Amino acid sequence: MTPPPAAFTTRAVHAGRQDLRSLGVHALPIDLSTTYPFDDLPAAADSLYDLAHGAASADEPIYARLHNPTVARCEAAVADLEGASDTIAFGSGMAAITAALLATQQRGGHVVAVRPLYGTTDHLLTSGLLGLEVTWADAPRVAEALRDDTALVLIETPANPTLDLVDMAAVVEQAGDVPVMVDSTFAPPVIQRPLAHGATLSVHSATKFLGGHGDVVAGVVSTSEDEWAAQLRHVRVATGGVLHPMAAYLMHRSLPTLPQRVNRAQATATILADRLLSHAGVSTVRFPGRTHQGNLCARQMDGPGTIIAFDVGDAEAARRVLRQSGRMTPAVSLGSVDTLIQHPASLTHGVVGEEAKATSGITPGLLRLSVGLEDADDLWHDLETALAAATPVATAHAPESTW
Ligand SMILES: *Cc1c(COP(=O)(O)O)cnc(C)c1O
Repeated sequence: MTPPPAAFTTRAVHAGRQDLRSLGVHALPIDLSTTYPFDDLPAAADSLYDLAHGAASADEPIYARLHNPTVARCEAAVADLEGASDTIAFGSGMAAITAALLATQQRGGHVVAVRPLYGTTDHLLTSGLLGLEVTWADAPRVAEALRDDTALVLIETPANPTLDLVDMAAVVEQAGDVPVMVDSTFAPPVIQRPLAHGATLSVHSATKFLGGHGDVVAGVVSTSEDEWAAQLRHVRVATGGVLHPMAAYLMHRSLPTLPQRVNRAQATATILADRLLSHAGVSTVRFPGRTHQGNLCARQMDGPGTIIAFDVGDAEAARRVLRQSGRMTPAVSLGSVDTLIQHPASLTHGVVGEEAKATSGITPGLLRLSVGLEDADDLWHDLETALAAATPVATAHAPESTW
């Protein structure tokens, strides 16, 4: 009898470890070889050719930029969790996004992108560095921006830093034959799996939740289309944006606890978002489902996530909160075991133009909180203290907190 499909938590523990027993080991092995001895020259030449043109594996691994078994195991694990047939890992989230954009050159070279996007992604598209033609569109008007040579539609949901959601299925429908890539960094596979909503590519900065402990820089692209998988590996071999096996090991080691980390932080974030909503010093709170787009959140996400954006009035108040942040680390990045807080307008989105900032809701007083695994009451104590420091004269917008 075939066993029933395993639950996500079970797969998170076992994914990508299928060959360990045959190797006679229990923990994930780390292969740091940069080169591999070969037995037979013609077979080695064939392997090199295949790997350089996008094969997932070959008889001989040849060279670490072409293939690495530690990285391949981590990729198999992420593919399992994403519901994809392939995952291709890169040296960072930006290397992963760059590879996908470079692969579009062979398919037409015109990209339709929806704002807001992660600041560096926005910059990559507007700077002309990749020589791509980009049309910016609002999510409901993607269809109008399509051209004959459109090779990719790029969206991010939840968006950084406003946590706006984009309806993935609706964009996929508008895009028709054009592949859609979703940057799902803010919602790791335990919460959201873009391929299930019709996306062709799901990309993550694995530096965030998948690494999960603030010690890995990595990116992953997942797809169930063989041609895309081969093109992404081809770009990786040719441009060299590979993931180091040590980083792949650390990411893979973090995956078994991904559901517990995310679900726990999400429960804490829900408590904090509610308390922020009734705090007099906070003018706006952004938390998916709770403050906006409830139906869409329920349709495409298993929960609101662990990130809250909130506005404390102006840049000076934001600066005071960050100075008094207690156990919350004032730092960019997100999805770590500890709580991080930062100021998007000057940091993660500092490179975004003033006009784009304004239309994307990146206001001067906006702070982004990535909730970690600390106790909710401890975090609320720190937040309340920081907010008191930020608003010496309370500008009451909302009734006093009852907590
Ligand atoms: C951090 C981030 C990236 C870039 O990832 P790196 O690993 O820092 O290169 C891309 N998209 C989103 C949404 C991010 O938060």
